[in-house]
Amino acid sequence: MKIEIATLFPEMCEAVLSSSILGRARAKGALQVNCHQIREYTADRHRRVDDSPFGGGMGMVMQAQPIYDCWKAVCAQYDEKPHTIYLSPKGTVLTQKKVIELSQKPVLFLLCGHYEGVDQRVLDRIVDEEISVGDYVVTGGELPALILTDAVARMCEDVLPSPECYEEESHFSGLLEYPQYTRPECWEGDTVPPVLLSGHHKNIAAWRQEQSQNITRERRPDLWEQWVNCQKKDPKL
Ligand code: SAM
Repeated sequence: MKIEIATLFPEMCEAVLSSSILGRARAKGALQVNCHQIREYTADRHRRVDDSPFGGGMGMVMQAQPIYDCWKAVCAQYDEKPHTIYLSPKGTVLTQKKVIELSQKPVLFLLCGHYEGVDQRVLDRIVDEEISVGDYVVTGGELPALILTDAVARMCEDVLPSPECYEEESHFSGLLEYPQYTRPECWEGDTVPPVLLSGHHKNIAAWRQEQSQNITRERRPDLWEQWVNCQKKDPKL
């Protein structure tokens, strides 16, 4: 999987992308992520990439030309147009289902906005979909792009040790995860549920499934309803 990130702050992205699991995945070639400085593509002799909004109003808007030229330069490296995503609070909110769908694309191009956003004309020209990381606004698209990259990377082969690492986690099956415990068995008088110490795999699995269902029903009635409906259609899910 290849992910191309267009941003005015590549150093911010590189700091995250070179650390921890993503850093190791990149080092061993399981994931390729390139950051592109949009400013490198501006035709303005003062290297400007933004201007004030037509119609008035606060802040600056990122101009179409540098973004379009950056996107074209990246596209020129591929036979097919990369699936192009603009990270935006106006987009569809990211879910695990969408993450799995995106992990099957060969190349993603992620456009990070900044300031008041991006000239609509370039979005209309290049973007396949707008994705939001939640119903709130952050200062730039870099953190949302990194969230998307991280979530997608985890679904790719050889990034995590095995698919089991994510298959039991929250949201994968539609449920939230059961509680986790580690050593010591007794911490400040609080003990671990005895079934987890029993070594009885079937009972442990049943306990975890029950906990997952209870937590999902209590905390996320919306997810619970979806899960119950899916079970009615196909109990194997
Ligand atoms: N004026 C825009 C609006 O009201 O919709 C918000 C602009 S925001 C300050 C600057 C950039 O941050 C956006 O262009 C977008 O790329 C990114 N951004 C902010 N919130 C986001 C969110 N919830 N999800 C994804 N991207 C977001």
